[in-house]
Amino acid sequence: MRECAADVSQSERAGGARCRGHGGAGDFGGTLALRPLGHEGFKFQPGQFAWLTLNITPLSMREHPFSMSSSGDRADRLEFGIKAIGDFTSQIKDVQPGTRAYLDGPYGVFTTERYWDSAGFMLIAGGVGITPIFSILLTASERNDERPFLLIYAASCWEDITYREELEALKEALDLDIVYVLRKAHDGWEGETGYVDKAVLERHIPRHRGSRHYFVCAAPVIMRAVELALFELEVPITNVHMEHFDLA
Ligand SMILES: Cc1cc2nc3c(=O)[nH]c(=O)nc-3n(C[C@H](O)[C@H](O)[C@H](O)COP(=O)(O)OP(=O)(O)OC[C@H]3O[C@@H](n4cnc5c(N)ncnc54)[C@H](O)[C@@H]3O)c2cc1C
Repeated sequence: MRECAADVSQSERAGGARCRGHGGAGDFGGTLALRPLGHEGFKFQPGQFAWLTLNITPLSMREHPFSMSSSGDRADRLEFGIKAIGDFTSQIKDVQPGTRAYLDGPYGVFTTERYWDSAGFMLIAGGVGITPIFSILLTASERNDERPFLLIYAASCWEDITYREELEALKEALDLDIVYVLRKAHDGWEGETGYVDKAVLERHIPRHRGSRHYFVCAAPVIMRAVELALFELEVPITNVHMEHFDLA
């Protein structure tokens, strides 16, 4: 287990405001940034996760899994984008600088590193499922990866898109297209609306389905719909990689 210290915890960084007039999810808890204590850092491949513990005491040691959202090439500063859904995640916004944190990992195979020979990547995210995908994109941009990336990103509404500004900035550094799919679009929105379904995917995925690897991380209902749609669209099953945040 690696010991770290919290650098900052910022609530509602990069999106996460409530959908105006819609009562959308809007519960992005914040970003937790950690620096290593007494070691060189925590190495991981973009897309992987770690088990995080804060404030260990002899009476309490509860680990929670979170995907790193920062660059896979920055072992000396890790970030986690965390959605507030319960006891632990709701405290993230109040974590004080210097708080001790412990990381167990990295774990997981949801990483583009394994597919270095892929012609490009299709990334499909819903809500806070953007975190491992953001790490993948950030790392690719820092490595000057020239391959095409397409991100299909489902959110409640425009204001609810986490990392929106950072993602738009990444378009400058990467061959990146982003298709936002808004459940509740504002007036004047001309992009995709509703859910990520077969029709949306068919409009955007490449004709040569097997030329890309597909990474999907979203709410269970979206994951199921996307998995079925990709199967029906004849994407080779070995090209599809899913990260389930839902442990239930
Ligand atoms: C591999 C992996 C990576 C993850 N990465 C991220 C991430 O980058 N950012 C992020 O915000 N979250 C991520 N999660 C989910 C995160 O681990 C949980 O949201 C967190 O542990 C909940 O703890 P809590 O004490 O706040 O909620 P609890 O108080 O434990 O639970 C609150 C409610 O949510 C339900 N619940 C608890 N855990 C989960 C879960 N994992 N999935 C769905 N429902 C749950 C409970 O049944 C309860 O109804 C990831 C999960 C996995 C498995």
